[in-house]
Amino acid sequence: MSNPVKFDVLAFGSHPDDVELCAGGTIAQMIADGYTVGIVDLTGGELGSRGSVELRAVEAANAAKILGVTRRVNLGLPDGNIENTPENRLKVVRELRFCRPELIFIPAPDCRHPDHPAGARLIIDAVFQSGLSKISSTDEHGALQPTWRPHHVLHYMQSIDFFPTLVVDVTRTWKTRLKAVEAYASQVFNPAYKPGVDEPETFISNPAFMEWHNARAKSYGYRIGAEFGEPFLYHQGPIGTNDLVAMLRKERPFR
Ligand SMILES: [Zn+2]
Repeated sequence: MSNPVKFDVLAFGSHPDDVELCAGGTIAQMIADGYTVGIVDLTGGELGSRGSVELRAVEAANAAKILGVTRRVNLGLPDGNIENTPENRLKVVRELRFCRPELIFIPAPDCRHPDHPAGARLIIDAVFQSGLSKISSTDEHGALQPTWRPHHVLHYMQSIDFFPTLVVDVTRTWKTRLKAVEAYASQVFNPAYKPGVDEPETFISNPAFMEWHNARAKSYGYRIGAEFGEPFLYHQGPIGTNDLVAMLRKERPFR
């Protein structure tokens, strides 16, 4: 059965807010350029020290609106326990086969939060299985989904740096990315949010966290001659090209 849905890009996050924090500028720019982008959150973030699952779902919906993504779903895996099981891989396979993205963003290969590399591993294994015809999955109407494997898999950077394969110039959309991140008022620093007495300051709600992310985007941006940049690690290299000049034309406007 043919599937009429076709996404250019699908961005996966272990928790709502991961994608906006680490690839929000790139996604906003892709959407501004006319590409179709979806977001898949693996968990609802129910172990978060601040806010609630319900509030995070509202914040995620608002952030998706700010970025302009076409579809956002939550797979409802348990926060803090993302297991690489046949059932969980199949949940990811269903999304891959439904959206049929050319390119996907996945969490970092290493991070202080174990859900991030665990999420990355689960998605990488699901990507492979999504291309196997004997792994069968059905859509919500019970129809058999055709196989699909995205052509490109890119890790975004989280709390542990890697040497990036490429850096996207996100100068045009950095403000949109900032607004999308600030939509998570219960999670990141937002002066409008008044945390309850039982909601402690966290690694990401500290105001310095936003400054660090800003500084990192400036640092990677400068390396490519841009004001702001988002770094990515290509999961399966090498990257092929048949026109190296066109591919690199926009890089380094100054020397
Ligand atoms: Zn996370």
